[in-house]
Amino acid sequence: MSEWTSIIDDVIDHVNLLKELGERSVEIDPAVLRSLSAAAPSVAAAPPRPASAPRPVTPSAAFEKPRGNPPAVLAAAALTPEARRKALSDIAAQAEACSACVLHEKRTKSVPGQGNPDSPDVMFIGEAPGYDEDQQGLAFVGAAGQLLTKMIAAMGYTRDQVFIANICKCRPPGNRTPLPEEMQKCLPFLRGQIGVIRPKVIVLLGGTAIKGLLDTQVGVTRLQGQWTSYEGIPVMPTFHPSYLLRFEPAKRDAWHALKLVLAHLGRPVPGASK
Ligand code: URA
Repeated sequence: MSEWTSIIDDVIDHVNLLKELGERSVEIDPAVLRSLSAAAPSVAAAPPRPASAPRPVTPSAAFEKPRGNPPAVLAAAALTPEARRKALSDIAAQAEACSACVLHEKRTKSVPGQGNPDSPDVMFIGEAPGYDEDQQGLAFVGAAGQLLTKMIAAMGYTRDQVFIANICKCRPPGNRTPLPEEMQKCLPFLRGQIGVIRPKVIVLLGGTAIKGLLDTQVGVTRLQGQWTSYEGIPVMPTFHPSYLLRFEPAKRDAWHALKLVLAHLGRPVPGASK
């Protein structure tokens, strides 16, 4: 397959996903159109449109404003980029050496999470590594990860621009749901990471991530799409990509939640009228 064909396939995939998510129009950067028309003279470039102004931040009524002093988990705010990387690699090394619960017994690799550590717009948090993640030591690289990658792209980011992590750093046998005590033992790693990374928004993927971080029994169906907060950081709970692969109609709800995140961040929201 030529590089050109593979780019076109990626564009088709991307547009198909937006269609599944309920979008009925796609905005294309005029620069992309101009470069396409330069490569293929029969394609006419549309006149450039003025850049859109950032959208105002309009958190929902459920959004809790940060209260009081930043707690200890956020004390790493003043770290230099180098110190931040060192702190994250120390956390990863501790997770790799951890034997606090049975999950360490069968792990191939621990999966600390990866991405942009410098206060990224979004930190995605899932449940626990699956088979592919356990083999590679990287979060969300299997089938669910591929859907997550597409949703990140639909938001206008690459995986490298966000941070991706899990509640548990080791794979539960047979991909079972992590037990409450396993999540509790593992939580300090994630809390440490959040304190170092200081994402602008946390997106919780699925019921286990919601339970693990927010310590609530309220399920994902109730909480999805509703702003809440963790240690002063805005949190948007939504469905897990594995669930979205099994139950496609929920993709629209998840996409709505991710668009609330984009609006909160002042980023362009696909499909929003200007
Ligand atoms: N599911 C998760 O919750 N996390 C991963 O990293 C992969 C699949």
